[in-house]
Amino acid sequence: MVPLNSAPCDACYFCQRGQQNLCEDLLFNNGAYAEYLRIPARIVEKNMLLVPAEVPLEYAAMTEPLAWAVLGFEESGARAGDWMIVIGAGPIGLMFMNVAALAGVHVIAVVKRDDQIATAKLFGAEQVVQTTAEAEVVAAARRLTPDGRGADVVIEAVATPATWEWAVDMVRKGGVVNFFGGPPSGTKVALDTNRLHYGDITLKASFHHTPATCRTAFGLIASGRFKSAECITGKVELGEVPALFQQMLTRSGGSREIKTAVFPGGVAR
Ligand SMILES: [Zn+2]
Repeated sequence: MVPLNSAPCDACYFCQRGQQNLCEDLLFNNGAYAEYLRIPARIVEKNMLLVPAEVPLEYAAMTEPLAWAVLGFEESGARAGDWMIVIGAGPIGLMFMNVAALAGVHVIAVVKRDDQIATAKLFGAEQVVQTTAEAEVVAAARRLTPDGRGADVVIEAVATPATWEWAVDMVRKGGVVNFFGGPPSGTKVALDTNRLHYGDITLKASFHHTPATCRTAFGLIASGRFKSAECITGKVELGEVPALFQQMLTRSGGSREIKTAVFPGGVAR
């Protein structure tokens, strides 16, 4: 089974409006590094999915982050044939690229490191802009969109003020920006009000997931459409988790890791 990390109440103002991701009484079940886990009844009832025998459990475990990307994608309103710029090629950026490509959206990835160029293409990006290779990153990304008008949708998945500002400068008139990466609390960004107003730009910031997007994400994984195998770049046992965290804390930003699967019963190597 995949028990999600939360379940909404389905009774509050937000749940009644179909925005269960904003539920006033979202019940979380955080902390899953254990052999056994007690799942609250509400999650069992509303947000636990049966994994078919042929689907590896480590693939199914990615339902939760992928469900975030699915919510962000759906709330951005992109349709097949649209052009989308995804800024950032971390795990969430890559998931976004894959979800968009599977929906027939043309994806332009904005990445930093050399190795991320190939990874972004693997996850569905048709074009890639490398920030370290361009003096004018915004102009380089816009040039790749039809008539250089800017993207129909821009997804920000880095979580820095600079990339939030790029996102607004890369979108076309009437387009949608989804600030998916959340910078630390208290962060401020400077946006050109003229561009927002006269460009008729919609700003979105999608948070969390809903039971519906969890099911959509799970369907993408179970059907084999989502690139699950490519996402898992490491496998560890439960006892190796502290060392893994230490490694993640001290790495210098050159890591190619996307997702590490943790196997409580031991890894079949
Ligand atoms: Zn609710």
